[in-house]
Amino acid sequence: MSATLRFKVVEQAFAKKPVEVPNRKDRPGEFFAKYVFNRQKMFQYLPAKVYARMVDVMDHGAQLDRETADAVAAGMKKWAIGMGVTHCTHWFQPLTEGTAEKHDAFVVHDGKGGMIEEFTGKELIQQEPDASSFPNGGIRSTFEARGYSAWDPASPVFVMGDTLMIPTVFVSYTGEALDYKAPLKKSINAVDKAATAVAQLFYPEVAKVISNLGWEQEYFLVDESLYAARPDLVMTGRTLMGHDSAKNQQMDDHYFGAIPQRVSMFMKDLEIEALELGIPCKTRHNEAAPNQFELAPIFEEMNLANDHNMLIMSLMQNVARKHGFRCLLHEKPFAGINGSGKHNNWSLVTDTGVLLHSPGKTPADNLRFITFLVETLKAVHSHNGLLKASIISATNVHRLGGNEAPPTIISSFLGSQLSHVLAALENSDDNELLNIGSKHAINLHVPQIPDLMLDNTDRNRTSPFAFTGNRFEFRAVGSQANSAAAMIVLNSAMAEALTDFKMRVDKLVAQGEDKTKAILRVVREDIKACKPIIFDGNGYSDEWRREAARRGLDVETSAPLMFDQYLTPSTVRMFARTGVLTKAELEARTEIKQETYTKKVQIEARIFGDLCLNHIIPVATRYQSQLIDNVGKVQGVFPAEEAAALNANNIKLIRSISEHSRFITENVDRLIEARRVANRIPDQREKAVAYHDTVAPLLESIRTHVDELELIVDDELWPLPKYREMLFIR
Ligand code: ADP
Ligand code: MG
Repeated sequence: MSATLRFKVVEQAFAKKPVEVPNRKDRPGEFFAKYVFNRQKMFQYLPAKVYARMVDVMDHGAQLDRETADAVAAGMKKWAIGMGVTHCTHWFQPLTEGTAEKHDAFVVHDGKGGMIEEFTGKELIQQEPDASSFPNGGIRSTFEARGYSAWDPASPVFVMGDTLMIPTVFVSYTGEALDYKAPLKKSINAVDKAATAVAQLFYPEVAKVISNLGWEQEYFLVDESLYAARPDLVMTGRTLMGHDSAKNQQMDDHYFGAIPQRVSMFMKDLEIEALELGIPCKTRHNEAAPNQFELAPIFEEMNLANDHNMLIMSLMQNVARKHGFRCLLHEKPFAGINGSGKHNNWSLVTDTGVLLHSPGKTPADNLRFITFLVETLKAVHSHNGLLKASIISATNVHRLGGNEAPPTIISSFLGSQLSHVLAALENSDDNELLNIGSKHAINLHVPQIPDLMLDNTDRNRTSPFAFTGNRFEFRAVGSQANSAAAMIVLNSAMAEALTDFKMRVDKLVAQGEDKTKAILRVVREDIKACKPIIFDGNGYSDEWRREAARRGLDVETSAPLMFDQYLTPSTVRMFARTGVLTKAELEARTEIKQETYTKKVQIEARIFGDLCLNHIIPVATRYQSQLIDNVGKVQGVFPAEEAAALNANNIKLIRSISEHSRFITENVDRLIEARRVANRIPDQREKAVAYHDTVAPLLESIRTHVDELELIVDDELWPLPKYREMLFIR
């Protein structure tokens, strides 16, 4: 990349016109889920008996027999072929960040030299992708090389282009999960069981509790030609160098600002495609940083919501290209401005329609509310280190603790009213609690929950896990992460807390205690236990870091060490009790996390070294030579004393360039050496630690010198598009 090329791509980017997306004649209500084989399509395309059987499978987890599968496949094929579909694929979520697919054509030989199209129940239900080509953390070598994907009937099949997409779980031949979906489904079941049992204490008619997820997806858009001119963006998804632009987000003028026309067309196009695939898009807006945006759908049942999030991330990237953009899902594509996250709005709702985290109108409802609230805090407190490990990655570390982002300590924001309610409950004495009962059956001494709280929008933006009226919002999840990683931990921890809660209440009741009194007593115990996790103050302050450590919360800042949380006795026990992940699966996942961390930093270090040595230093040297040349010429023209005065500034620059260049070259050498040393370490954990301790910090320290050079070197020579050129879509 030369400077002339840079000017050319900047010019191209700024000249681009919006790609018009024509208005459709049909309304969203008409094209919503057009490409989804949902119940409506099932009803239309399946024989009545088969449809009824499928409903049983979807709603009650009944086993899918081969005969039904064949009949369903036949109906699907008919529907899909009507839309020009020629292929099918199992669509799954391996332990990378994306999704995986392998397309097979419907065709088979007809035995007479021709072809016919076929799609059987067997193909619908099961495929056998080779597990060894996906991250498996050693599960493959210790067990079996084969992996298989199996249809998840709870998430509907859909069509993209010419392909029938079948959402599946991905497991090893011996049954270990090699993906996110299988344990997510188990965790949803675990929390369903545990929450149903507790909900029945209040409402005996409850038969099921559903986990909801409403994700808010943040992302950046960058013009495609500028993106192509930044090898760091292409290779790593973030800029590894680049000086802050004079104007960034300090004017607060981007957040909720008018959406640029090019972007607006992109959003419109994206939403149409998403709606056609059954993703209920609701909100779109500019985010805080320039070029940063957000999309949020209406919340859905968690398994489906997560599939939809995975789908939207690939749609975003595809649709962006149609509009001459690249969509950046990295958590921190640009230093100095906000990074991107995924806010996971999480709630539990009964099959009778009670949102379990929503305050009620009656004291009984409020006791249910307090119970679920406190047990959530208990879950988050008991496993705060693990929750943090579930959202941390080599990329998300750059966002946490940064500008306007949750810090690397998990705490929960309740707001002052609710905090007071809990404090009042905790401090009400035994006698007072024991007085509740026969005479005042209705007065449960659960302090009145002010109505105001219901629409409490005074949200503390610095809190990673905030209560927002009838749900919790987990904000520390990374923008490119599979949300399942975090939801698996949250659901399972909640299931464990609720199971413990129920056991203690049952025990007291068996000893003759009144049920309500028993519930209150256990709630009070748990308020005491989980108090350290409640924090309503400024999560970005240094005092909080010290205070959190004093409270015994996990304050680890090194990602590879955070991953250790996956293998602590309390984690292993919790996942075993809930049946969500086995120790072998946890070991595999931890190793994959360590390995992925190492590889990401390794790739960054490689491309960074290349950029420094082959792009930056040569240009700095060239500019320095021009300056030296000029100094010589000035000396030739002016008397010595005058020349010295005239040259003073250039000499300063020449020296400064030398100093920066020397720092950069010397430290790139150290970077290469640090990598070499780390690469020789056989143990994955130690290797990741070495990358964290010895490689990653060098990227940061060298970068400041590169960014200084960017300010010094003639703009005419600078090879990489600058922040001010990349960040302001016209
Ligand atoms: P904000 O950015 O102010 O938090 P948004 O409107 O962007 O608000 O996002 C709110 C998200 O919360 C949406 O995805 C919405 O569907 C989701 N949500 C609302 N109620 C619930 C609920 N009970 N359970 C889960 N998610 C919910
Ligand atoms: Mg939100």
